[in-house]
Amino acid sequence: MHNYPNVQLFINGLWCDAIGGETLPITDPATEHTIGHAALARQPDLDLALQAADAGFKVWRETGALERSRLMRKAADLLRARSEAIAYMMTREQGKPLAQSRMEIAGAADTIDWFAEEARRTYGQVIPARLSGVQQIVVKMPVGPVAAFTPWNFPINQLVRKLSAAVCTGCSIIVKAAEETPASAAELIRAFADAGIPAGVVNLVYGVPAEISSYLVAHPIIRKISFTGSTPVGKDLAALAGKHMKRATMELGGHAPVLIFDDADIDKAIAVTALAKYRNAGQVCVAPTRFLVQEAVAERFIKGFIEAARDIKVGNGLEQDTAMGPLANGRRVSALLALVADAVSQGARLETGGHRIGHEGYFFEPTVLSQVPISARIMNEEPFGPVAIINRFTDFAEAIGEANRLPYGLAAYAFTGSAQTAYALGREMETGMLSINHNGMALAEVPFGGIKDSGYGTEGGSEAVESYLESRFITQMNG
Ligand code: NAD
Repeated sequence: MHNYPNVQLFINGLWCDAIGGETLPITDPATEHTIGHAALARQPDLDLALQAADAGFKVWRETGALERSRLMRKAADLLRARSEAIAYMMTREQGKPLAQSRMEIAGAADTIDWFAEEARRTYGQVIPARLSGVQQIVVKMPVGPVAAFTPWNFPINQLVRKLSAAVCTGCSIIVKAAEETPASAAELIRAFADAGIPAGVVNLVYGVPAEISSYLVAHPIIRKISFTGSTPVGKDLAALAGKHMKRATMELGGHAPVLIFDDADIDKAIAVTALAKYRNAGQVCVAPTRFLVQEAVAERFIKGFIEAARDIKVGNGLEQDTAMGPLANGRRVSALLALVADAVSQGARLETGGHRIGHEGYFFEPTVLSQVPISARIMNEEPFGPVAIINRFTDFAEAIGEANRLPYGLAAYAFTGSAQTAYALGREMETGMLSINHNGMALAEVPFGGIKDSGYGTEGGSEAVESYLESRFITQMNG
């Protein structure tokens, strides 16, 4: 039997309570019961973390790339070995089914391994000189101590990309992970600590988000920030980073369009998108959201999708046959009820779902809305929950117009049998990621990030490593 722990801060290689002794309660979203507490950091704790990150950086940047890589691989192996205990904690605090928690942990270990390999490939350049006797080189240096802010929907996977990129390049990091899901993030940090990473290189705090971010982002020790969360908070933090001339990576909200053309394999489109829509109860920044189906296949797609939604077994994530757990917190329940009510009041058809389930736990029905007018709030705001919006289109131009209408540009999906349509989509969709005829995003080795109001920078692939490095040009004359 696994336990849910109380969660401490990790500062300068030590697990510790907050100096002021304050804590935050942690709620199980399936029962609404308090299951533990997390330490709440204030400024004196942050000052210790900043000193530790500063000292840790000086040690870590001088540590050889091979050794950094070796320690990271060890952390990945520890995470795999501890998967069952961590999956239990993640499901308790976040709600997702155990199988999805296990997948998240396996994916995180894979991500650490990939970045560990990249640690050995932060190549610079030699530039031919104009004069004989001159050597011109560009070396890649770690940018410095990083502050990272991560949300509750994927408590480990949102963090592992930032942590791995920072650690593989020789940066130190202070993580403020989500207060709602502190234990799984702490277990990821523990894997790095137990692998033998030097004191001060990774640090973990929890607290009042705005209090922590405003202090860390502005602090001269911090050289880069990385945030995953909503667009409004991201814009505030990006503005603060700009004011203090800090590098920033912003992975923000989305409202993914899904274009289903009449030449697509409709059964496959239903199976792939229903799975992606209701995974993690729809609390996924790249979740398919605005379905646009070409007239000739619309009836068939909607019917099949509704059946798939009704087949989903909703329940406590700890139960074996649960396919969708509760929403992660009470804020999502009220937000979704309001979005569905607004859409229906504006003429949308509620095809299935739309209600809270029971009176205990934040359970919500897998929901499908159709014929939703673009004036409805849900057509413009990220639902971040298990609601699919299915509308129709007649031709390519209309579909692209609607897909690109919103200021978001994170993920997009399309299903078509035409290579020409697929090519045109690749050119015209305003999106950071486009998945055609399957769901193939979020692997360690490929870019992960958005454009427009969905943010900037990428958290996967070689570009993710680049954003933790700065180029230093050195020109040297012989003698
Ligand atoms: P929120 O915007 O208050 O918080 C989102 C995350 O940002 C949380 O983890 C929170 O702790 C953190 N945060 C909030 N204010 C902060 C600040 N000033 N400094 C640093 N961190 C801060 O919203 P929420 O109620 O938790 O979620 C609502 C919306 O956030 C969702 O509808 C969704 O649009 C977005 N969200 C996006 C992702 C993502 O993966 N991109 C994840 C979680 C939430």
